[in-house]
Amino acid sequence: MQTNSSIHTAVRIYRGALETLFALLPSIAILYLHFFTSDAAPFKSFLIHELAILLSILIGAFVAYITWRCYLVSGEPFLRWLALGFLGFTLVYLPHGLLTRIADHNMALFLLYGPAARLVLMACLLIALAQRGHCNDSEPQRRKPGFWLIGVILFLLVDALVAALALSPYSATGWPRILLESATLALTLTAILTLLTRRSDSPLLRIYLIAVTTFAQSSIAFLILANAWDHQWWLAHTIFAAGFFMLSYGVVQAYLASGSFISVYSLEEIFTQLRQEKARAEDALSQLKQANLNLRVIATTDALTGLSNRRHFTEQAERVIERALFENAPLSLLMLDLDHFKRVNDTFGHQAGDQVLRRFAEILQREVRPGDLCGRFGGEEFLVLLPSANTAEARTVAERLRQSVAAEAIDLGEQETRITVSIGIAHLGSSADNLHSLLQRADRRLYAAKEAGRNRVHDSDAASEGELKRPHEAG
Ligand code: GH3
Ligand code: MG
Ligand code: MG
Repeated sequence: MQTNSSIHTAVRIYRGALETLFALLPSIAILYLHFFTSDAAPFKSFLIHELAILLSILIGAFVAYITWRCYLVSGEPFLRWLALGFLGFTLVYLPHGLLTRIADHNMALFLLYGPAARLVLMACLLIALAQRGHCNDSEPQRRKPGFWLIGVILFLLVDALVAALALSPYSATGWPRILLESATLALTLTAILTLLTRRSDSPLLRIYLIAVTTFAQSSIAFLILANAWDHQWWLAHTIFAAGFFMLSYGVVQAYLASGSFISVYSLEEIFTQLRQEKARAEDALSQLKQANLNLRVIATTDALTGLSNRRHFTEQAERVIERALFENAPLSLLMLDLDHFKRVNDTFGHQAGDQVLRRFAEILQREVRPGDLCGRFGGEEFLVLLPSANTAEARTVAERLRQSVAAEAIDLGEQETRITVSIGIAHLGSSADNLHSLLQRADRRLYAAKEAGRNRVHDSDAASEGELKRPHEAG
């Protein structure tokens, strides 16, 4: 693993060195020509110039078309601007070829279309870079002709402006050409800096960087060293053409590799995006799980006491009762009702009443075993289901509960109060029993306990034998 990663690093460094070398090769040619053959006789051939421009224009148009087709598939704004750049280059470069033969009469008119075409191309390439990674255009957006129409009109306007500039008195000063060339160079250097600081590993963008570096060198040659028709001038053209071909090579390569421009992005970038998407999805999922959990708690518990609510208690109890019937196991149900609870509310207020209910629920949970079910049936009525508790055990639990409640002085902040509870018990008897019948029996016995004077446990219908505790017997 370690070896692999060092080989990987070495290969990347080698690739970087090779790309730098490719990118800077034109400088070697420029310097050679400048220092060793500067006095060579100029080479003036209208035909070769026209053919070279024709070739560039055909390539520019073809690549613009390919890039546009790819844009239609993926909708990437990067590609929209790339296609527009190639289209603009084609339209602005065209007069440079068409006007070759007037070079002798109006040099400026002939020459200025060169830097203007490169300026247009660079401006679009720079915008394309800035647009990289932005949201893809929607399907209907891609088909809208407005963007291209405005582009074509702007490029034709650039053609007209260049003509006006060339025919104006300023052209004699040579400044228009220097300005256009300098602006192109400035944009080119900005693009290089942008690409270098982004350090993208996308195959197309690496070729892009080499091409743009080549453009910068051709601009320097055009700007500082070359005069029309001299060898430096032809070389600057060749260098620009090399960069242009390289860029179009990157485009068609990306097209062939994926049928669209997916490979404009490197695998690493795609994986990073995938990882981010995965993390986002996992985050959303865990939030959803938590929300579901919260909803479940809300749906199953009583907000005041935290005990099971009536519905949830009923569902659980039905299941436990069915199992007890199936296993022929004992089971008991306690129904509890606070005595004279209305008085608590009347004396201390509703909030104190709530506090008493909460405290009562705590005592309830403290006194039963973990497998027993406690629920709030409504108001100040509670239920406790004791699975596998026979008659005697249920009585013991109920009595313990009753005594614990009666023994507790409930803290109400400034003051305290005491309450008592009456309890009715129903035991699972015949196989015909169910929750409903148990509830009915427990309710009847609870009522009997109340009738008998409260603060007592009843576990049978015959008051004399079922009554387990009378207050006056206590102590
Ligand atoms: P008994 O001994 O016959 O059961 O008398 P009691 O006063 O307890 O019975 P009653 O059914 O007349 O009154 C129950 C009271 O419980 C009335 C109601 O306002 C109160 N109550 C019900 N739910 C709540 C609650 O959530 N909070 C508070 N503070 N009081 C409640
Ligand atoms: Mg009550
Ligand atoms: Mg009641």
